[in-house]
Amino acid sequence: SWDKEQLAAWDKRYFWHPFTQMQVYAREDNVIFARGAGNYLYDLDGKAYLDAISSLWCNVHGHRHPRLDAALQAQMGRVAHSTTLGASNPPAILLAKRLAELAPAGLERVFYSEDGAEAVEIAVKMAFHFWRNSGRPEKRRFLTLDNAYHGDTVGAVSVGGMDLFHNVYQDLLFHADRLPSPYGLARALFGARDWDQPAATAAWLQRLEEMLRERGGEIAALVMESGIQGAAGLLPFPKGILAGARALCDRHDVLLILDEVATGFGRTGRLFACEHEAVRPDLMALGKGLSGGYLPLAATLTTQRIYDAFLGEFGETRQFYHGHTFTGNPLACAVALENLQIFEDEQILERLAGRIRHLHDGLAAFWQHPHVGAVRQFGLMVGIEVVADKSTGSAYPYGERVEYAISRAAIERGVYTRPLGDTLVLMPPLSITAEEIDRILATLAEALDAVTSAPRT
Ligand code: PLP
Repeated sequence: SWDKEQLAAWDKRYFWHPFTQMQVYAREDNVIFARGAGNYLYDLDGKAYLDAISSLWCNVHGHRHPRLDAALQAQMGRVAHSTTLGASNPPAILLAKRLAELAPAGLERVFYSEDGAEAVEIAVKMAFHFWRNSGRPEKRRFLTLDNAYHGDTVGAVSVGGMDLFHNVYQDLLFHADRLPSPYGLARALFGARDWDQPAATAAWLQRLEEMLRERGGEIAALVMESGIQGAAGLLPFPKGILAGARALCDRHDVLLILDEVATGFGRTGRLFACEHEAVRPDLMALGKGLSGGYLPLAATLTTQRIYDAFLGEFGETRQFYHGHTFTGNPLACAVALENLQIFEDEQILERLAGRIRHLHDGLAAFWQHPHVGAVRQFGLMVGIEVVADKSTGSAYPYGERVEYAISRAAIERGVYTRPLGDTLVLMPPLSITAEEIDRILATLAEALDAVTSAPRT
């Protein structure tokens, strides 16, 4: 019984939306979602939208999974929140144990936070503090990649590589050394279709090795997304990058921080993307799908080696200076525990391979489209790059917002998605069916045709 017009007006009047050009939004209507069920969201009129991006890449089992709802309600009947500063709670304890069991062997210490950016900042602070405590204060530099996205807070942007976010806040950030994006380098060498080449991996690893030989003694950690750069447009790494980076970091005594915020919890077909190359980072950041997309929850996992640097004599530097009001919130941890149990009981990972292949087969046709420059996929993460001119590969001018128009056309047709720059994004729940994949792809193709064939104004 909500008043739709009133809510829409108040949304524009009072609500400052994240990552949104508010002046543009003032002229456009956003969908106001009132409820969700399974792989669908419903607006105030009850119109259904197939959720092709899992809210913001996080609702891995879709919406209103009965077991997640029940787990939340059960915890609500006990307590909604209690501090973890000098106290603890059963869901937070049990979840830490479960994560340590499921993560690559050796990641056995779990530090909670509320979102992905913070999980990365914690990893950065831990790495910095680790070297300080181990008597190596010269190891203060961080190494990152062009096109990296690790979140929007000052520390997370500092170790990010998207110039768009750096330009405005430059003077607030700390310096990080940068390497090329593995996909960017591979594509420059071998093109949009054949970028995944051993020679591309070797070329990038050579750049990393040169950097580590020159500055490894000062570098605390290499920070990278795990196998694919998400926010910069779904840019997968050539095979062997993660394993090669791990080996080089070991050789030069540099910590490896892997950001699994987007890739974690089945998104790439394994529970964690680093499993594809049997890599264990020193610190791993998790978020998004950790709570099944139900509540803000993130975690930084690390090794006993890092943890040990905080043991020993009582003293100022032995304490890790981080913690928030809601750290280890029992509601979020309870729903996360049930989320992990669903992976096991419903054999989510075992059933994914077929759907990933189905998506791959369906995507093949997009390569033929006159306004598609590249199609990229890693598991259930997909980027379709839109081009103004296929022969030159040039993008539409930023201000024309063509990719937004395509996404809006898909939304009108009942498929919810949101682009990243010149890239259309698909990040469906792991519970997506083959028929739903077909519908998403057909709708996106229709939307792409409708917008790119319309006369430009
Ligand atoms: N790291 C990666 C790889 C991400 O994709 C994101 C968000 O998209 C973040 C970190 C930041 O997570 P959050 O938005 O929860 O802070």
